[in-house]
Amino acid sequence: MHRFLRFAQAGMVLGLSVLALHAAHAQKPIQIVADLTDAPRRLFHADVDLPVASGPVTLITPQWIPGEHMPAGPVASIVGVRFTANGQTLPWRRDDVNLYEFHLTIPKGVTTLHAHLDSIVTSRISQKLAVLEWERLLLYPAGTPVRDIPIQPSLKVPAGWGVGTALTPVSSGSWPVPAQGAVTRFAVTNVEQLQDSPVITGQYFHEFPLAPEISPRHYIDVVSDEPEDSNLRPSVLAAMSNLVREASALYGSHHYHVYHFLLTLSDVAGGEGLEHGQSSDNGVGEKGFADSAHELREAALLSHEFTHSWNGKYRRPVGLYQPDFATPQQGALLWVYEGMTEYLGDVLAARAGFETPAQYRDRLAETAANLDYTPGRDWRSTEDTAVAASVLRGYSPWFNWRRGQDYYEEGELLWLDADTLIRKLTQNKKSLDDFEKIFLGKGGNTSPLIVTYDFNELVQDLNAVVPYDWAAFLHDRIDQINPRADLAGIEQGGYKLVYQDKPNATERTLAAIPGRYFAGPSCWLSIGLRLGHDGTISDVRWNGPADKARLAPGEKIIAVDGQIYSADALRRAIRAAKGGTDPIHLIVQADSFVSTAEIDYHDGERFPVLERVDGTPDYLDDITRPLTTPEKAPAEETKASK
Ligand SMILES: [Zn+2]
Repeated sequence: MHRFLRFAQAGMVLGLSVLALHAAHAQKPIQIVADLTDAPRRLFHADVDLPVASGPVTLITPQWIPGEHMPAGPVASIVGVRFTANGQTLPWRRDDVNLYEFHLTIPKGVTTLHAHLDSIVTSRISQKLAVLEWERLLLYPAGTPVRDIPIQPSLKVPAGWGVGTALTPVSSGSWPVPAQGAVTRFAVTNVEQLQDSPVITGQYFHEFPLAPEISPRHYIDVVSDEPEDSNLRPSVLAAMSNLVREASALYGSHHYHVYHFLLTLSDVAGGEGLEHGQSSDNGVGEKGFADSAHELREAALLSHEFTHSWNGKYRRPVGLYQPDFATPQQGALLWVYEGMTEYLGDVLAARAGFETPAQYRDRLAETAANLDYTPGRDWRSTEDTAVAASVLRGYSPWFNWRRGQDYYEEGELLWLDADTLIRKLTQNKKSLDDFEKIFLGKGGNTSPLIVTYDFNELVQDLNAVVPYDWAAFLHDRIDQINPRADLAGIEQGGYKLVYQDKPNATERTLAAIPGRYFAGPSCWLSIGLRLGHDGTISDVRWNGPADKARLAPGEKIIAVDGQIYSADALRRAIRAAKGGTDPIHLIVQADSFVSTAEIDYHDGERFPVLERVDGTPDYLDDITRPLTTPEKAPAEETKASK
């Protein structure tokens, strides 16, 4: 909690933040020059000039990165640290407890401390592109709120590489492709905003303006490993412009001066989706937007991260906002921060045309079925997945019994439930859209700003849309143990979740794209296994048929019903056992041992789909209907640079 916010509770802090801004501008800014010319060698460099007074000083680098929900600051990769003043090298010592802190003593008469550092970069980087997250290079005085520390960034990139960022360049010269050897200076900002303003740069760069009639301006900046990929297809750009229009219509406010979608297309630089107030860092594979099937897989990425500019960046749960990147963040309300964003991102993806209403429903069916078949919900509440968020990222054996950061998908079902309930209670005259305008639009249009909220404010704003016992509604679904997923939203929306013996159309399209996380056959809802492409077991559904046969994650299926393992052989065996009594016979390898297992399962293959319930209101269709007139295939795309 920001020290100002502590007094303001969950209320508005507009006046106070203006005061903070004045205080910031009274000081001399830190100067930081980020040199990315060594990016292809996985190195960034920085020269930092800090205004100082003589005596002991403690400098610090970020630990709790906003949006990561964990203490993931890359201090271990910061190397080559050297402090100098008036040409003399100054000794330093790391803090024994807080490893993000550097202590040193400034000699008499010194007013500027120079720091040089290098950063070893192992993610979001390739031979042709790089993403600069400023925490890789930041050093600033400890103990001061980061929004009160003024800083002026400058940037140098490899010759010919273009630059995408929400930072405002102040130096003249070519932009967004700086001249060879040029250092681009940006306007003075503060450490909080600089950390929130990443830069992408790359040899194959395009910047496209979006929805030109909308103010403030929106752009998508794209870098790729292959020259053709960053030149996005006209249909993608049309959907992006639709996304900007739909978000404007849905939220009715904005909290940025400009917005840049930053997108990397690379099989090397890794996947990413990280929100910022005036931009988002999005990373997908090289061909992530090259055709409609890939585009469907990434359908909700950009709409999710864009939504965070309102929900997460502007409106922030009180425990998730800390003034200094050093105090641990508290995740209890992540089912709003992430869960509601998951819901809104999917709704916006459908409204913008990244997916059809039928595809939206198919993906919703997958989400609902997976949550309904997550046995860990028998002991762990959705709220606990949020409170424990910082230790739940990543996969583990018995993942379904442990649970992951399920507040994303649980939130999707929860907010769909709330949306359809509002529609039901108001005869479809009001919806969650009305709530978003209140909750995300407080204060109208603003500069980039963080305004915190608590549980009570959520309840208050929901009641302003339609009176209901919203506190009980939320507590029941979030804090309680709920062995079944919340399917009420689907049912109030006019559909029911059913299982059929073949994958739905969307799942079939997605399954055809290489590089899926679980590459093996989909048999989670039947025998209860997640499999890799070679029959290696990633997870076993707790208390499911494979669990009862004593199978375990890490084992590998070698043979099925007398045949060498293949995805087809396993699916055939599941189908053959349907309605009978003979078990499915497996030969399984565990470490260097081989054994047999028999799965006693006779219900055939099972895949989720939503089925329309005739005679009920079709709110799901209302929810995915665009609020604005969609832009169809444009005649030509606009290119702002080469
Ligand atoms: Zn998110």
